[in-house]
Amino acid sequence: MEKVMSLKNISVSMEIISMSWKVLKVPLKKPFKIALGTIENYEGVIVKICTEEYCGYGEASPSPKIVGDTVDTVVAALGRFEPLIIGEDVENYGRIMETINRSMVHNSSAKAAIDFALFDILAQRANLPVKSLLGGKKDRIETSLTVDISSVEKSVKHAEELLSQGAKVLKVKIGLNPQEDIERIRAIRKITDARIRVDGNQGYSLNQAIKVLNAIDRYEIEFAEQPLPVGHEDELKILREKVPIPIMADESVHDSRDVLNLIGKVDAINIKLMKSGGIYEALKMASIARAAGMKIMVGCMIETKLAIAAGTHFALGVGVDYADLDGYWDLKEQPFEGDIYRDGYNYAPEKPGLGVTPIKELL
Ligand SMILES: [Mg+2]
Repeated sequence: MEKVMSLKNISVSMEIISMSWKVLKVPLKKPFKIALGTIENYEGVIVKICTEEYCGYGEASPSPKIVGDTVDTVVAALGRFEPLIIGEDVENYGRIMETINRSMVHNSSAKAAIDFALFDILAQRANLPVKSLLGGKKDRIETSLTVDISSVEKSVKHAEELLSQGAKVLKVKIGLNPQEDIERIRAIRKITDARIRVDGNQGYSLNQAIKVLNAIDRYEIEFAEQPLPVGHEDELKILREKVPIPIMADESVHDSRDVLNLIGKVDAINIKLMKSGGIYEALKMASIARAAGMKIMVGCMIETKLAIAAGTHFALGVGVDYADLDGYWDLKEQPFEGDIYRDGYNYAPEKPGLGVTPIKELL
């Protein structure tokens, strides 16, 4: 009987019959300021891919200054991907991603949107959360909550708010004003024993980074993300030798080739699915980083809970070291619902697939 039922299940067609997308703009609760600039709105593209039986959702959150894409280029890329995937069988996930990746270079957030939707369908079909398909190594992971750049006084207030919401790790943005950055970290350390990591978003020169990181080491900093500009990877190696705080690459690492290039230059990498073009490439990045003895964080852009769920499933499935998956916190409204955050930790929704659903009909 069991055999008959499973055979029946296998006979369900997994052919992709439709793909649609919609541009989504959501204002932020307040402008989000980092060394790279200030953002006032979330602007992304939501993708829906369907077989006869299942529909999966994906999201592209473009970032002109990091990935080099925009909502318009995402829409153009999706238009090119559509004819390549219609009629394909979702069970050939790897083959579909190879086809998409070969069809256009870059355009990683559009590729990520396809990747998430395919994984969402595969996991629904398997009746498992995506994290289980990826290895199911962890049930939860501490996520940092982000203090963006403002006056020292406002930063302390912001940190207090996040701590009152259960934050066990704070990620403090720096990189615009070395003296004020040191003061900001000192002031935040005064009010909490929580772990603190910092992110320079490429804002410093080598000398500034050496000065600031040595000055804040006394405040017990977990690691420093991307203090130097992209293209200065050899200086990251020098920095790593001159400061006691572990150095993590973020904007300098998009794909597996970048990870290879950074071996010996940094202690850790920040994998973001919008940079890697989804889970397919991110799995290779994680394998290389592990083999090279680097720590791994999974991070995010400003994203809805949909992409954050994908990042959380990936982080838990692979069992990475750190997570910075709070990109939806700043959105004024949540287009997707799903249980992700509780008391300082991110969890994967306990449903088949990615486990998040649109609050109102989006597509
Ligand atoms: Mg970063």
